[in-house]
Amino acid sequence: MKRRTKIVATIGPASSSKEMLKNLIIEGVDVCRLNFSHGTHKDHIDVINTVREIIKEINYPVALLADLQGPKIRVGVVKDNGVNLVDGQNIIMTTKSMEGTAKKVSITYDTFPQDVRAGERVLVDDGKIMLEVVSSNFKDEVVLKILHGGILSSKKGVNLPNTKISQPSLTPKDREDLELALKYDIDWIALSFVRSARDIIELKHLIKNAGKSTRVIAKIEKPEAIDDLDDIIKAADGIMVARGDLGVEITMENVPLIQKRIINKSIEHAKPVIVATQMMESMIDNISPTRAEVNDVANAVMDGADAVMLSGETSVGRHPRAVIDSMNKIIMRIEDQHRELYAREIEPIKNQSRFITDSICFDACRLSKRTNSKAIVTMTNSGYTAFKISSQRPEARIFVYSGNKKLLTTLCLVWGVKTFFYDKMVSTDHTIEDIKYMLKKSGYLIEGDLIVNTASMPIEELGNTNMLKLSAID
Ligand code: PEP
Repeated sequence: MKRRTKIVATIGPASSSKEMLKNLIIEGVDVCRLNFSHGTHKDHIDVINTVREIIKEINYPVALLADLQGPKIRVGVVKDNGVNLVDGQNIIMTTKSMEGTAKKVSITYDTFPQDVRAGERVLVDDGKIMLEVVSSNFKDEVVLKILHGGILSSKKGVNLPNTKISQPSLTPKDREDLELALKYDIDWIALSFVRSARDIIELKHLIKNAGKSTRVIAKIEKPEAIDDLDDIIKAADGIMVARGDLGVEITMENVPLIQKRIINKSIEHAKPVIVATQMMESMIDNISPTRAEVNDVANAVMDGADAVMLSGETSVGRHPRAVIDSMNKIIMRIEDQHRELYAREIEPIKNQSRFITDSICFDACRLSKRTNSKAIVTMTNSGYTAFKISSQRPEARIFVYSGNKKLLTTLCLVWGVKTFFYDKMVSTDHTIEDIKYMLKKSGYLIEGDLIVNTASMPIEELGNTNMLKLSAID
């Protein structure tokens, strides 16, 4: 498929059977997301094994993304699974476990009484219920005024946009989930509620100490993360605009501009960026999206996101296949018509250590545009040139050849990139001819098409990319 913007689908009960997963992957899912906020380890292991079986059968790669829950705060279980909170009344939140009532409810945040200050907002159930801190005993209870009440049901999420939360970014549950993700060599690990670049650096240390090099995605959903955005993007390997919690933590009208800012900055740093949450929400029940949802997906594609993400739509929704079909159609339409999407022309920075490689990637894209080349082909072991070429958003297709099998699946998240396994190393000239032959044979290119190749010479040194070649398919 010629689609450039990738599709991330959360896998859950509605999509985890082998038959459904295979259908979704064939229809266009590039990345399968395991949401560790739900499901058991066995559920996730089953999905990992099934996806890998399917990859073998269809013979092309699909990435796996493990999304760690992070320090998500929730209320405890409440009486009759729902109590009515009345505007103007007070409610106590306790760190002790209990069955909640309209007067008192437990919260899964041990240092809540120590961290909050009077006047701070506490938002429950995606902001549907709004509370304000009145006082704390600094031990185990906080008194809150109900500003906007409603039915509070068990285990609803809590957001504290104004509070300096002292909880660590990786909870004991995250550490167990991380262990599983590393054991099963998942391609991408996403960290929720990132507050600073330090959270990412700490996670990367854990990954390195486990002898792995799994790439890390920072989920941007806290105001503190917006303040530290540049350093977070530099520290992470990818970014997710996690609009669900973000829209509660900051005022919702700020989300569209912040989405654009995060996408632009991520592209500047050549880091893949995912736009997530409620993209096709109504399709959890309905067979087609609302017009507003179509616009939302289209806008993310126009902004240049590497990927758009589905959550409940594919994990618990009634029409997972129709969701992928709708997304495909929207993305293809925009990519076909919206010329501004292409040719970002991000100039390489002279004093960077990779200036030579960056310059080759920049000029490969420029050359492909000027000559109307059909493809840019790069050979890479680390993936660096794939990320860099993709970040220029060339209109030519990006074919990446690598002997690094892990990279073939990992790059499925990256805009426009299509990967192939290649580990022969005769000579640069031979490799280029060999690849041209294979691309023609498999129908990706036809006689007369121009193609731009980047490579590292001499090939056997596996050094940095330093060469550019333009030639025709014959
Ligand atoms: C979000 O909040 O938008 C998000 C993607 O996170 P999760 O689905 O893990 O709540």
